[in-house]
Amino acid sequence: MRIAIFGAGVAGLAAAVELVDKGHTVEIYEKRKVLGGKVSVWKDSDGDSIESGLHIVFGGYEQLQSYLKRVGAEDNYQWKEHSLIYAEENGKQSVFGKANLRSPWGEIVGCLQTDFLTLWDKISLIKGLYPAITGNETYFRGQDCMTYSEWHRLKGISEHSLQKLWRAIALAMNFIEPNVISARPMITIFNYFGTNYTATRFAFFRKNPGDSMIEPMRQYIQSKGGRIFVDAKLNRFELNGDTTIREALLMDGHKVTADAYISALPVHNLKKILPLEWLEHKYFRNLHEFVGSPVINCQLWFDRKITDTDNLMFSQGTLFATFADVSITCPDDFQSGMGSANGGSVMSLVLAPAHQLLDMPNGFITDLVVKEIHNRFPKSRDAKLLKSTIVKIPQSVYKAVPDVDKFRPDQISPVKNFFLAGDYTDQHYLASMEGAALSGKLVAEKLLGRYGN
Ligand SMILES: Cc1cc2nc3c(=O)[nH]c(=O)nc-3n(C[C@H](O)[C@H](O)[C@H](O)COP(=O)(O)OP(=O)(O)OC[C@H]3O[C@@H](n4cnc5c(N)ncnc54)[C@H](O)[C@@H]3O)c2cc1C
Repeated sequence: MRIAIFGAGVAGLAAAVELVDKGHTVEIYEKRKVLGGKVSVWKDSDGDSIESGLHIVFGGYEQLQSYLKRVGAEDNYQWKEHSLIYAEENGKQSVFGKANLRSPWGEIVGCLQTDFLTLWDKISLIKGLYPAITGNETYFRGQDCMTYSEWHRLKGISEHSLQKLWRAIALAMNFIEPNVISARPMITIFNYFGTNYTATRFAFFRKNPGDSMIEPMRQYIQSKGGRIFVDAKLNRFELNGDTTIREALLMDGHKVTADAYISALPVHNLKKILPLEWLEHKYFRNLHEFVGSPVINCQLWFDRKITDTDNLMFSQGTLFATFADVSITCPDDFQSGMGSANGGSVMSLVLAPAHQLLDMPNGFITDLVVKEIHNRFPKSRDAKLLKSTIVKIPQSVYKAVPDVDKFRPDQISPVKNFFLAGDYTDQHYLASMEGAALSGKLVAEKLLGRYGN
């Protein structure tokens, strides 16, 4: 079959890997010059890697890890110590470590040993999280009617643990507050946390997600005959009388014809190009239920090390919710002699919630972030800031607010030769690299199933 895929994020590339492996003719059309979508990384004029966002691989990402292995990139990421680290004022850290015992004992003992939680926090957490640890998919889906804060309070868990532990996790997962995010994704994560010891450990790419994952995927697809076009923006579809796609038109007027067409576009881009005729289907109208979460990634290059933490960090009460010193966590990039790095820290910080920051000038945002860095990392007060960058994404992953999950579309659409991939489509993960990878696998399987392959 000849299959056209629009969008070269993880979802589009994963679908292409599946389809070229089955011997099909695959063409990918990507609107930007760089592949990877929200995972994309590019070099600026100093030779520095600029990330769309700091990206972590979780132990539970089975599909993504299987793709990394398939494309020969299984050694391109590195596991870190198994703990949640919260950066506090003046260089202090609060650490929620897991004891080296089987789940849930590793987590229960870890919780009891944590010194920044009160006895009441610990008792209410262990008691209150029990339904999440023992729950199944039906239970999790049933909790999509309320926000995480509502669920947390309903279970009688302490307010202190909500603010101290889980607020940063909600912001890291979906860039929205616990009183906005649905309970469903949060308690799904707790389930992983409490039942599968390795599922919640973190890994960093040895270089960055672009070089360590997207580039090997590109090479693999092309080595199997797949063709990838950049600067190739899908503009609209021309339809047959039965509303199936006759051809796709790119922005430059180029026409694409194929046996089947896959959209691996973010949902907000897809909404803009949907033919009016298709809106008679609830399936396509439902896409308008999704709203993107704004987020900003800030990178700061310092002339000396301001921390020695080789892991992901979280923070409460700062503009950055989650961050890392990538000069430490990513041993094959951001090192002395590479671009602007001179052996000092290179902080990559995810700023969330970001709606109030989007319209502020970059220099102003950087100043605010640096002030907070001084507050958390005393060594930074004597350090010189060599360089800073800001990447704003006004609509990143969809906001996982209550009652939206049920609108996630199947990969098979009502239009016979049109299919959807993307982190927002229906699969059991929240919008994430794993969700995008799963959607790529599912769309390939379902497409081939529909055509009897
Ligand atoms: C700051 C940040 C941090 C994150 N951290 C993590 C993390 O630590 N772990 C994790 O698992 N996930 C993380 N995520 C989420 C993860 O990046 C996404 O869920 C995932 O990459 C989405 O992949 P996708 O292929 O579905 O969509 P996208 O990556 O958005 O890919 C869609 C592609 O379609 C292209 N496109 C759009 N319109 C057109 C058009 N008209 N024609 C052709 N092409 C078009 C886009 O340019 C893009 O390349 C993070 C996201 C952000 C923004």
